[in-house]
Amino acid sequence: MRLLKDKAIINGEWVSAKSKATFDIRNPRNGEKIGAVPHMDATDTELAITAAYEAFQTWQDVTGDQRSALLKKWAEVVQANGEELCEILSAETGKSSGDAQMELTYLISGIEYFAEEAKRIQGEIVSSPVPGKKLLVERQPLGVVGLITPWNFPMMLGGKKIVTALAAGCTCVVKPPEDAPLSTLSIVQLAHDAGIPKGVINVVTCDRPNASEIGKALCESRLIAGMSFTGSTAVGKILYQQCGPHIKRISLELGGNSPYLVFDSANVDLAVQLAMVSKFIHCGQACIAANRFLVQEKVYEEFVSKLTEAIKTIKAGENLGPLMNANQFKRVCGFVEDARSKGAKIILGGQPAKNVGELFYQPTLITGVTTKMQVYTDEIFGPVAAIVKFKTEEEGVEMANDTEKGLGAYFFSQDVSQIFRVSKRIQSGCVWVNDTIFVPDAAPFGGIKESGIGKEGSHRGIDEFTYTKFICIGSL
Ligand code: ADP
Repeated sequence: MRLLKDKAIINGEWVSAKSKATFDIRNPRNGEKIGAVPHMDATDTELAITAAYEAFQTWQDVTGDQRSALLKKWAEVVQANGEELCEILSAETGKSSGDAQMELTYLISGIEYFAEEAKRIQGEIVSSPVPGKKLLVERQPLGVVGLITPWNFPMMLGGKKIVTALAAGCTCVVKPPEDAPLSTLSIVQLAHDAGIPKGVINVVTCDRPNASEIGKALCESRLIAGMSFTGSTAVGKILYQQCGPHIKRISLELGGNSPYLVFDSANVDLAVQLAMVSKFIHCGQACIAANRFLVQEKVYEEFVSKLTEAIKTIKAGENLGPLMNANQFKRVCGFVEDARSKGAKIILGGQPAKNVGELFYQPTLITGVTTKMQVYTDEIFGPVAAIVKFKTEEEGVEMANDTEKGLGAYFFSQDVSQIFRVSKRIQSGCVWVNDTIFVPDAAPFGGIKESGIGKEGSHRGIDEFTYTKFICIGSL
């Protein structure tokens, strides 16, 4: 496959690590090796930062319309190579071809959207309170940015960070996830094919042991003007701290603990149907996957029995993929055991799936969940639906907010005043009412509390990569 790379990319050149070290990438479906890429470190990262900094000296003078044209070309080339990209993405993540295709579709629409936004980065002329002065507000790109991305939607999330940074006029150094770096390398090759100049996008790859030194090199470099990270809250906190002493801009898209509230007034069939998407998307490995099902008394039995029937239609290895790696797998097993030991009732599943592959877990439904169980307090990131009963609207909302996280929330209600009341009181950056995961490019996506700061998507996503400069021209 032409797009399956075994090198990282610095200043438009495919390069090995200075140390020559590499690490293997394996398919989580069957453990097969699909490639190997450089295991880089801080030394390689410095080279990438320098290349990005040099490229910025000319990229900053490329106009918004010129950037837009290049990014549109990138979208076209990605589209034309979609089949191969999906194969690479499926191999490194274990995604079905349908899920890979969906990720590709989102990526292409994201590139197209930000290609348009590149043309609309406007400033202002502010009226002067005194005569003889002209006051301008310009939006300028931050400069070189560091982008660290996760494995669950590696191609889409990586590609969207890159395109937003480039649309804003920044150049970048990308550190893709160790589990799934290949699709990022492929789309960056296509960006070069589309004519994006060398040095504008640099990619440094590494296995887990070097991730922290690369992260630190990026956060501490004087040439890096901003960081953008998607991943766990634990790593987000480290990066936030590392940026602190340098007063460096950082946007963080971190973990969630999405409540999925079903009120007595809900259309229960709809809530069940959409729960299957919110919960089981990519085997539950999405930061906005439904985490805690909070169901009101009167509809509780109906919801649980209908959801149980619906979950029986999914089978690990058929329409449910694997967990990403051994850590994820252990985590899910541990969470279910924790719930079991604290008295929860396992209605379905509750075990690794047999005879499919080492990383497959049975679709699971648990009732009798309490606020002390890990499936309630932590992000599950697996195919486990944990259900809690509540009595009043107030209690339901209180439970929904009973977490340090605040990324996504879902609720089902057919009572108009309840819809407005609850939407207002839910503490999260995104709320879906009578709906499931839907994040169009125009939506400002991001969390509150320990789920992060800053937004991705929409013109607000561009704001993360620009600053406003006030220019006062006097003595006129
Ligand atoms: P997950 O637990 O889902 O793998 P992580 O937050 O651990 O999420 O990983 C997301 C990204 O952050 C990956 O690219 C990973 O290599 C990177 N990463 C992990 N630890 C660090 C660190 N200390 N500093 C910078 N990046 C890191």
